[in-house]
Amino acid sequence: MSSERSHKAEKVIERMGKKLTRQIVGSLAACVHCGMCTDSCHYVLANPDDPTYAPAYKADRIRKLFKSHYDWTGKVFPWWVGAKSVYTDKDLEELKDTVFGKCTNCRRCSINCPMGVDLATFNRMARGLLVHVGIMPEGIAHVAKEQWEIGNQMGILREDYLETIEWQEEELQEEMNDPAAKIPVDRMDANIVYTINPREVKHDPRSILDAAKIFYAAGEDWTMPGEGWDMTNFALFNGDDDLGGAVANRIYDKIEELRGKRLVISECGHGYRSTRCEGPNWGKRDINDFEIESSVITMLRYIKEGKIKVDKSKNPGIYTFHDSCNNARSCGMTEEPRELLSLVVKDFREMYPNRAENYCCTGGGGAMSMPEYRERRLKSGKIKADQLNATGANIVVTSCHNCVDGLADLIGHYKLGMKVTQLVNLVANALVLDRKSIGGGNGKKPAEANPALSGIITP
Ligand code: SF4
Ligand code: SF4
Repeated sequence: MSSERSHKAEKVIERMGKKLTRQIVGSLAACVHCGMCTDSCHYVLANPDDPTYAPAYKADRIRKLFKSHYDWTGKVFPWWVGAKSVYTDKDLEELKDTVFGKCTNCRRCSINCPMGVDLATFNRMARGLLVHVGIMPEGIAHVAKEQWEIGNQMGILREDYLETIEWQEEELQEEMNDPAAKIPVDRMDANIVYTINPREVKHDPRSILDAAKIFYAAGEDWTMPGEGWDMTNFALFNGDDDLGGAVANRIYDKIEELRGKRLVISECGHGYRSTRCEGPNWGKRDINDFEIESSVITMLRYIKEGKIKVDKSKNPGIYTFHDSCNNARSCGMTEEPRELLSLVVKDFREMYPNRAENYCCTGGGGAMSMPEYRERRLKSGKIKADQLNATGANIVVTSCHNCVDGLADLIGHYKLGMKVTQLVNLVANALVLDRKSIGGGNGKKPAEANPALSGIITP
């Protein structure tokens, strides 16, 4: 390596060699620059005259580095294959602007590439290389630090978390008119251990209450964990696999300690993908002792099994559904939320394109933590705003807390006059809570049917 190269540039190159997987090398090698992915990117649609937003151009910023150091073609014919290394910290800052500021890792270009090039995967790798040498947006550094040191992305202290649960438990008792209604914490051997996004504690405690109402109505034996309750994982955004493993194992360890039978993840695209799909790899862990399920599936199951009853007339309005990129494109969860939504609202109108072809809310990939890119993010959201507007709906439903914030920002910016909500809120609102329905129709309140459900256990 050149002695003129900065220490950070040398470290980035060295670490790239350790992070190249067969999947990433395949994607780096396979691009034929056909341009078929170009129009799939929301940044391109908003900036048609700026080639630096094209997925293939962005991918080439990383590919050139790969060719320069880890591909024989780049060593023999560097001018032919466009090999180009990084030398200065300024080069790394420019790379940062591309990988953090011009891509939300939404994977829409990936599924539209005939060669199977998955830019989002190696864009995430490139983020991780920069994070390793301390080059990243300030917000990214801050959130990762909170998750490393305090155990959740929003730095919520344990006493504040428990206090919020107690507050929501009081609300539950009042709304259910049942002083025995509980939000259990650290109950051993529960059927369900329910994990949440810290945003619910800090900004949306109503979602915790709504989930509790649904579990109450179903007569479920459930608990929330006292620790390891944050099912989000910022490693998906900052590319730090060490953080990914530590966060995932924190959750898995807790479920095993509680001997929980099923880990249920509240509505969050990146939390679901991280905890269910990526976490076992990052944490080098086999999950054999419990199942992992999205709360969307849990709620749908309850209705289908007759454990809860719902009345869709309780949710008036015109609804549309926004697919989270992580749920739809990366986890294939497209039909369950629609089935559930159609059971709890009367007027549901599809947004086009939808499912795996849906456009990003623009809040993905940690974008909401990077205010320096807000202007270009909102500009890139024009296609999403047009999509929303064309539905004629006044309420957009999404199964992702990140999307709630991304969509709300767009709705405000483009003055769409819509509201954003989640399925848990609609299901809770549609519940039929007469005595015959609660607990699957045994005529008893949950604590009457099963006295074990009335105790709250806090260590
Ligand atoms: S990433 Fe795929 S679709 Fe895009 S230019 Fe390369 S080969 Fe073509
Ligand atoms: S992953 Fe999404 S944001 Fe990134 S280049 Fe592809 S389409 Fe654009």
